[in-house]
Amino acid sequence: MNIDAIQNGIVIDHIPAGAGMELYKHLGLDALDCSVAIIKNAHSNKDGKKDIIKIDAEIDLNFDLIGYLAPNAKINIIRDGILAEKRAVSLPKTLTNVIKCKNPRCITNGEQELDQIFRLTDPEERIYRCIYCETKAN
Ligand code: ZN
Repeated sequence: MNIDAIQNGIVIDHIPAGAGMELYKHLGLDALDCSVAIIKNAHSNKDGKKDIIKIDAEIDLNFDLIGYLAPNAKINIIRDGILAEKRAVSLPKTLTNVIKCKNPRCITNGEQELDQIFRLTDPEERIYRCIYCETKAN
């Protein structure tokens, strides 16, 4: 892919087609001052179609969140116009304050200070459950 446009920044590649916008929102990229581009439905020999996010600055990213929404994503860090670092993400074992429990009677919905913690209970099916009430995420 063409990374010429970025001198110093991050390219999140191999996001499943359709998940780019969701990732953008969850990562809070709308709050950034630098330019951010989402490329939807880019052609990929490997995946058929994919989304790509380009961020024109080297920022701290929540890798758990990326791993959760796009476990096959590749993160390319570009410095001085060249690919300086390539990182893969994986499905996180636990998610802390990434998603919220949907169970209205869950203790996390009553106590605001409590962290929202989910544990990966089925890696094959990508199922996460709330550690307090066992409610399935999604
Ligand atoms: Zn819960």
